[in-house]
Amino acid sequence: RGGLTLQIQVVPFGDDQKMVLSRDISQLERLETMRRDFVANVSHELRTPLTVVGGFLETLIDGLDDYSREDVIHFLRLADEQSSRMRRLIDDLLTLSALETGAPAPAEEKIDVVELVREVTREVELLSAGRHQVELSMEGDGMLLGSHKELDSAFSNLGSNAVRYTPEGGRICIAWRRDENGGGEFSVTDTGIGVAPEHLPRLTERFYRVDRGRSRETGGTGLGLAIVKHILTRHQAELSINSRPGEGSRFAARFPSSRFKP
Ligand code: ADP
Repeated sequence: RGGLTLQIQVVPFGDDQKMVLSRDISQLERLETMRRDFVANVSHELRTPLTVVGGFLETLIDGLDDYSREDVIHFLRLADEQSSRMRRLIDDLLTLSALETGAPAPAEEKIDVVELVREVTREVELLSAGRHQVELSMEGDGMLLGSHKELDSAFSNLGSNAVRYTPEGGRICIAWRRDENGGGEFSVTDTGIGVAPEHLPRLTERFYRVDRGRSRETGGTGLGLAIVKHILTRHQAELSINSRPGEGSRFAARFPSSRFKP
């Protein structure tokens, strides 16, 4: 990691002379390792639910007569959950790959941020289903230039993470604030499980999860923050993350003044 790898090439020239060429291939090597890790991760993530579905089907084929109707429905429900999980993962992968291969950004619209943030708050309330205290704080309005669909997806993702990583009874605050320089910030603050400092720099990497089990239990794919980061970069926005284990987290997206319609 971070080392230098030189590729040496000996090229003969003239009658009896040789030239030594060297080039630094560490960057290429790093990319290749990342690509290999990614393929391994995707395969593993898809294989796990598929194995579960296969297991249920085999059980039913072998012993359909041994199970009650309730048992069968129970198995089918679990299999259906796993298939939804695979669908979510594939949807996220397609979204990420479209963002990464530099697909053209959708046409820019003028987005009423107050409306967008209200919509996101309603979604968070629905997801929380009364398990958390959900608050909304709005300071200033604005028409943001960008893709409504993408920003809605990025903001909702931060909101749903707050729900998923905050135990029942916790507080989630969604806030929008225009600053004196004309920029604006969307943030989600929770009183959830938080993230230890050593994990913070890697949270937006594809498939990076602090606790795989917890992420999976709550329907995570490990791709959410990677997608958020891409969408925000496309909108010249910066993502900042502050968190303390056991106390909570704050995820904020800051948009420069150039992103606002005067
Ligand atoms: P996942 O589908 O696993 O939630 P994300 O890319 O959305 O994937 O997030 C990556 C990881 O960051 C999560 O697995 C979790 O460990 C951590 N994380 C994200 N949001 C929060 C939060 N609000 N509180 C605590 N941890 C979080």
